[in-house]
Amino acid sequence: MTPVKPPSEIARQALRLLTTRKLAPTPSNYQSCYNEIADLPNVAGFPEVPLRRIALALTARNIAQQEQLNLLDVAIGRHSWQAVEDALSAFDKLATAQTNGNAGTIPPANGVHDSGRALINELLGRAAQLIENMLPAVQNDDAVFNVQVKSLLQTLRNPAADIDEVQAAFGNFNHRLAFAAEEQAEIKQALLKLLRLIIENISKLTLDESWLHGQINALLTAIRPPLNLRHLDDVEQRIRDVMYKQAAAKERALEAQEEMRQMLASFIEHLTGMHESTASFQGKIEESARQIEQVKSIEELAPLMREVIGATRAMADETANAREQLKTMQVKVLATEAEIEKLHRDLHSASTLARHDPLTNTLNRTGLGEALAREIANMKRHETPLSVALLDIDNFKKLNDRLGHEAGDAALIHLVNVVHDCLRPSDSLARYGGEEFVILLPDTPLDEAVMAMTRLQRDLTKNYFLSGNEKVLITFSAGVAQLTPDETGADAINRADQAMYLAKRAGKNRVMGG
Ligand code: GH3
Ligand code: MG
Ligand code: MG
Repeated sequence: MTPVKPPSEIARQALRLLTTRKLAPTPSNYQSCYNEIADLPNVAGFPEVPLRRIALALTARNIAQQEQLNLLDVAIGRHSWQAVEDALSAFDKLATAQTNGNAGTIPPANGVHDSGRALINELLGRAAQLIENMLPAVQNDDAVFNVQVKSLLQTLRNPAADIDEVQAAFGNFNHRLAFAAEEQAEIKQALLKLLRLIIENISKLTLDESWLHGQINALLTAIRPPLNLRHLDDVEQRIRDVMYKQAAAKERALEAQEEMRQMLASFIEHLTGMHESTASFQGKIEESARQIEQVKSIEELAPLMREVIGATRAMADETANAREQLKTMQVKVLATEAEIEKLHRDLHSASTLARHDPLTNTLNRTGLGEALAREIANMKRHETPLSVALLDIDNFKKLNDRLGHEAGDAALIHLVNVVHDCLRPSDSLARYGGEEFVILLPDTPLDEAVMAMTRLQRDLTKNYFLSGNEKVLITFSAGVAQLTPDETGADAINRADQAMYLAKRAGKNRVMGG
């Protein structure tokens, strides 16, 4: 048995061998000299890194090939040349099969891949369903598009569909779909532009824009994207209000215009009359003056003087009459003006009274009733939950007493702004009473609605209400109820009200589910 050499000795001899054999001093040459001296088998290390690089460069064209690539990966990890060879040769054979046209498709239902094929068919079926559901959103009159959709759906629902066929059908459909979607987006943009133009024009056409100003601004805000059906509903209602009020204003304004026209006509008539009598008066005076120049005696003067005095008196009477008439007309004009002014004021309050509260521009009771009816219909149609919350500001009377009614009003507006920022655009906010508000939360079950109201409480503590320089913390108590399928909106609001009452009783500044 040869004695075991110490590694330092082996290393020295390996270096000597390297020089004797005039070998390049590379790590692998040194390793083989070392193994020779140490009497170790001279086997090269397993080239894991380059092999992995090769494996990465390979692309599977079908599921079977992908399986072989997975096996290759395992084989490299295990440093098993045999397994590497097996995986590579199977991979190669499957590639050949593909060129012959057998394995290019997702494996046929030949027993081996039955479950895989079933899964793929299910996926394709779902894709078909998805496309059908999505079609109304891009519906257009393009016959080619409709034919392509039909053929794609047929292909997707064919249990033995060829993957190339599926790919081609998808490719065509994608292409057309991109156009159709683009067209829909353009149509939407164009409609919005048109709507904005109409709204702006309404404001230009109105005789006095001030009472419409709020409505027009609300409309322009409402048509800012993203649009949803609720927004559009709101837009429709506001436009109806505006149209109704504009028609009323126009009618009354035309009447007033006619009154003014008649008054002006009679004034001009009087002016002409006055002019005529003034001319005849002047004629008479001139004639009297000429006769006076020729009088010889005082007796002759007396009748002339009487004539002059008579004419002057008549003139003075006429002027006084005219002044009286003018005064009456002036009073009438002022009255008409005041009436028009009142009309505008009435219209202003009517505009906000219709469906919106004038102070906070939230829905009023009428608006709330309509919104509730709409949301309940949606809830039933889509079988989604609908919750209502009733909130009442805590100690609002004290706030009013301490800071004044105006600050109280501003605090209400502040609360409304925070609610709008905090809740979803689909939620509706209505002023239910003085400092009580109702919030409708569609698609929201009770626990989420309670969470939303709690979030609102938190937001209110972060957003102080500023009264002058004073930071005022507003808190509220709220009750929340989720509508049951057979109760009315009013029932649900009552339940929310009872829960709110309990929240007050429990110490205020809290939210309770009903
Ligand atoms: P609680 O915490 O129990 O709700 O007490 P509260 O003071 O908030 O409730 P209370 O019902 O006693 O008082 C409500 C106050 O809200 C009284 C009323 O003057 C005031 N208020 C109602 N409407 C308005 C409004 O439009 N503007 C202002 N500034 N105050 C209003
Ligand atoms: Mg109250
Ligand atoms: Mg209160």
